[in-house]
Amino acid sequence: MPVRYVPEPFRIKMVEPIRVLSRDEREEKIREADYNLFNLKGEDVFIDLLTDSGTGAMSDEQWSGIMKGDEAYAGGRSYFRLIQAAKDIFGYPFIQPVHQGRAAEKVLFSLLMGPGQVAISNMFFDTTRAHVNIAGAKAVDCVAPEALDPAVRAPFKGNMDTAGLERLIREYGREKVRLVVMTITNNSAGGQPVSVRNMREVSAICRRFGIPLCIDAARFAENAFFVKQREAEFANSPIRDIVKEIFSHADMFTMSAKKDAIVNMGGLLGIKSDEELYQRVKGNTISYEGFTTYGGLSGRDLEALAIGLHEGMDEQYLTYRIGQIEYLAGKLDDAGIAYQAPAGGHGLFIDAQALLPHIPYHQFPGQALAVELYREAGIRTCDIGSFMLGNDPETGMQLQAQFEFTRFAIPRRVYTQAHFDIMAEALISIKERAGAVPGYRIAWEPPILRHFQARLEPMGRQPGL
Ligand SMILES: *Cc1c(COP(=O)(O)O)cnc(C)c1O
Repeated sequence: MPVRYVPEPFRIKMVEPIRVLSRDEREEKIREADYNLFNLKGEDVFIDLLTDSGTGAMSDEQWSGIMKGDEAYAGGRSYFRLIQAAKDIFGYPFIQPVHQGRAAEKVLFSLLMGPGQVAISNMFFDTTRAHVNIAGAKAVDCVAPEALDPAVRAPFKGNMDTAGLERLIREYGREKVRLVVMTITNNSAGGQPVSVRNMREVSAICRRFGIPLCIDAARFAENAFFVKQREAEFANSPIRDIVKEIFSHADMFTMSAKKDAIVNMGGLLGIKSDEELYQRVKGNTISYEGFTTYGGLSGRDLEALAIGLHEGMDEQYLTYRIGQIEYLAGKLDDAGIAYQAPAGGHGLFIDAQALLPHIPYHQFPGQALAVELYREAGIRTCDIGSFMLGNDPETGMQLQAQFEFTRFAIPRRVYTQAHFDIMAEALISIKERAGAVPGYRIAWEPPILRHFQARLEPMGRQPGL
């Protein structure tokens, strides 16, 4: 049964032209980019699915908020409007705006942990892990085992493995474990949600051991929507109530507002009861971000964020957004193309290893598929696999990732049904000639975070030239 496309709950009143280059032009552009999609110019991309972060379309309400932004250095009106919105939604009295998610991590983590200490998460996002490490501590993942098999369709594949969490706390010792982080939705596991039940269990464990619990809340609204759909207790609850319930189980949160709050730049930090910690957060914010009432943002950004927080929780909007991804997933089911199932909240993670079984991990199937999607249809995606993972820092040998995914991250309120049809058609057409898709070797790489800058070369003969 084909999945029906949920109609957009908005109409379009401003457009940004995009164009598709000819196949020959695309071949030339990707060769000039050394087969690394980060090196492409945005204007040479037809459908840009590199990330859902900061790429959403703001509403007419948000754009009019931009005009009303109060740019006072201290105590601006837009600041108070944002604080009120965040307090109402999350139920925390202490809220600090910052310029993006990683800024909240930088401001907070050094106050909580240091060398020799540990933070445990259902799965750390890259920057979150990096800021744990920058604070001198070790970051340990502890995701539910079903997350590790792309074919298993479990409702809450983003959950923490609670037995594993208890074991880790006992192993490291409760005084060494300084923070537990719940990433909702679980980005690195494919945008998979966390259940309220799991939040409650993790919260109880944290309380028992006296460890603070932090939510990495970038996709809090998508997570609440999945809870409503999949957790019987909440089938009739408004999204706002589910959000309140989830946050009631934690002590603090960091948030990239570039995701579910549908702004192009922004972040938040919230603290539930530790006022002394909040005072220290304000001190760090002034040093790193700017005065506390703007936190590295313009007044107009604060205004758009205050509005976006509410819009991101609108149930019609969420039905449409998750529906888009399910529509694409349905087409891939019909075509026998595997992905991290069920479909996640912010995109679809295609199992490139299953699609390109002849390409070994050290020739980067996820990257090979990403390059092919650009060649085929001008679509820009990215590798979430061995190419991104890189080399063992000690031996210099290529590491093998747990998955070889190509990620289709879907910007919010940007693309329409015809674009989704093109995504599915491109994948199906690549599947038909999969055997001719080449693997890649690295011609040059920087020492760290190489996937942003590396230069690649196709192995052997290029297909379809
Ligand atoms: C994007 C993201 C971050 C970092 O936020 P930025 O706004 O990109 O700095 C942290 N955690 C998660 C789960 C994210 O998705």
